[in-house]
Amino acid sequence: MPLIEFTDKGLYCRTGQFYIDPWKPVDKAIITHAHSDHARPGSKSYLCHTQCEPLLRLRLGDNRYQTVEWEESVLINGVAVSLHPAGHMIGSSQVRVECNGEVWVISGDYKIEDDGLSGKFEPVRCNTFVTESTFGLPVYNWKPQHEIFQNIKDWVCKNKEAGKTSVFIAYSLGKAQRLLQCLPETGLPIFVHGAIWNAHEAITRSGFPLPAVNRVSYDTPKESYLGNIVIAPSGAEASPWIKKFVPYAVGICSGWMQVRGNVRRRNADAGFALSDHADWKGLLQAIKETGAQKVFVTHGFQSVLARYLNETGIEAAEVKTEFGNEIEENSEAIAKEQEQTNNQ
Ligand SMILES: [Zn+2]
Ligand SMILES: [Zn+2]
Repeated sequence: MPLIEFTDKGLYCRTGQFYIDPWKPVDKAIITHAHSDHARPGSKSYLCHTQCEPLLRLRLGDNRYQTVEWEESVLINGVAVSLHPAGHMIGSSQVRVECNGEVWVISGDYKIEDDGLSGKFEPVRCNTFVTESTFGLPVYNWKPQHEIFQNIKDWVCKNKEAGKTSVFIAYSLGKAQRLLQCLPETGLPIFVHGAIWNAHEAITRSGFPLPAVNRVSYDTPKESYLGNIVIAPSGAEASPWIKKFVPYAVGICSGWMQVRGNVRRRNADAGFALSDHADWKGLLQAIKETGAQKVFVTHGFQSVLARYLNETGIEAAEVKTEFGNEIEENSEAIAKEQEQTNNQ
């Protein structure tokens, strides 16, 4: 039996009797990060990084949570488990599993560039590496974060001059917090959708510093938004909720925006290819640095990446999982919020 098996409930360590990011309820779940496709409800206990816990609690409610720091090793039924920064979002981790000298690393979702919030991705040596492949095509080749931030700030200034509000579409967990690293430099007030507000509160309550924002609420006068900044989760751009910001321009922040057609398809005024995932080169670099003899490729462009690795002499196989593009968390809460703020 391999140390980690791919089962219908998720990635399973039989010796340690735990799962990593299971998609069905289990007794013991180790969670790489708080996105909805990796952290699902119903398990009896969860182990995650200290910074991930407030976000898990926000999404999954009260549960048995055990937290560890990065590099801290815990023994689970004789199997050594430790978490290492994955650079994907606040508190995101790779899971290192070791038993009888054999080491597996399950990377969850990861990003190589240090964004200043998510922890610096740490290459961890292992025999077997499980990698995502969300942007596993050579066309995905990110610009450095500071360049994208400059484009974002320039766009806001342009909108301000044209008398328009800048509405950013960004995931409430991850992208929204990253935007707050550059937007305060414009000096303009920042308003956020309730879903982003809730994440912001959970993160700052746990002691993680983030800049101050205002919540979009039904009693905010419409003029307060004019020429300023709004951050909203995906889906909001196609809803009546956004009408209160007229006149506005929509900017979508997502790795998918690197492909121009996607900006048009989403009816956006601007697209910023700011991603929380590794690009093609990043994936290859991460895989190489693990020194792994065997690589399993999960969600994304599995077949492209696995084939490429095999051709370059790294044994690789595709694995089917239920991980996927992060669907926006709290979609119910988002709908409710929009209903409330529309009743004005
Ligand atoms: Zn994720
Ligand atoms: Zn994922």
